[in-house]
Amino acid sequence: MTAIDLRSDTVTQPTAGMREAMAQAPLGDDVYGEDPTVNRLEAFLAERLGFAAALFVPTGTMSNLLGLMAHCERGDEYIVGQQAHTYKYEGGGAAVLGSIQPQPLEVQADGSLDLDQVVGAIKADDFHFARTRLLALENTMQGKVLPLEYLAAARKVTTEQGLALHLDGARLYNAAVKLGVDAREITRHFDSVSVCLSKGLGAPVGSVLCGSEALIGKARRLRKMVGGGMRQAGLLAAAGLYALEHQVERLADDHANAALLAKGLSELGYEVEPVQTNMVYVQIGDQAQALKNFCAEQGIVLSAAPRLRMVTHLDVSRAGIEQVVAAFARFRAQ
Ligand SMILES: *Cc1c(COP(=O)(O)O)cnc(C)c1O
Repeated sequence: MTAIDLRSDTVTQPTAGMREAMAQAPLGDDVYGEDPTVNRLEAFLAERLGFAAALFVPTGTMSNLLGLMAHCERGDEYIVGQQAHTYKYEGGGAAVLGSIQPQPLEVQADGSLDLDQVVGAIKADDFHFARTRLLALENTMQGKVLPLEYLAAARKVTTEQGLALHLDGARLYNAAVKLGVDAREITRHFDSVSVCLSKGLGAPVGSVLCGSEALIGKARRLRKMVGGGMRQAGLLAAAGLYALEHQVERLADDHANAALLAKGLSELGYEVEPVQTNMVYVQIGDQAQALKNFCAEQGIVLSAAPRLRMVTHLDVSRAGIEQVVAAFARFRAQ
């Protein structure tokens, strides 16, 4: 029985084509800048997303950290969502390793930050205060796509206020596919963008930070400092390149499967939040652990949470979604 694992889109196995691309990749020592496959991935993504330079790193956490540290000096501040990954799920890295003070703001229902609140949080030039330097947004934000008009407005405000603008685009391509636009329509508003290759795109490892030559030069030094300088990393970059070349359009299938799951569960009477991309949030209440155990017996892997997140990805088929809905129906009936 193959498990249907809906905990995250990080659980995917590399496809046969991806493994083949990894096996064939020309390699070199990337700390010397000599890995042709890493160089190709960095050039490819920089060009595709409209930046001068890019840097391959092991994780999205490192990519965001290097981005924040390249923009901000010690004693600077960044404005970020209270529920944002950068703030809440990265071990406080910007503060711990960068001495950058976060100024969290509550995320709105649509995944955005209120721009009036952002402006209100910017500190005056006064020696009592940290220097507000950067606004960090996330897209998709818990599966929600930030509207393009909102990104344009965020760009305008940050330019007026002299702030840099960073995007945690771990699921940038889910947003682009959902909007039906080139990813550049999203990234063109930002000074730096972090993209995960290891989420819905299906690579085993890797993220890429994109920005100006100067910013990426700084980030490259910081990457070495935090231990992220890898050697024959082209083996991993090849998986990322393969994902970008072959596994972007199919994200639409994940979105369709998430919509199908949401429809099935709401027809069973579950309270399901509106779905935009590959994440389904459903209210399970105090049944969370029982549901998890029940599903585990049927080869369905879930988290246990009262507000349960289920994530679709390339290792979950439409038939798999139908099995999950059927299991929820049996659970509800017992
Ligand atoms: C997963 C994720 C990251 C970090 O990625 P890791 O590779 O797990 O460190 C950053 N931001 C968001 C929104 C994510 O979902």
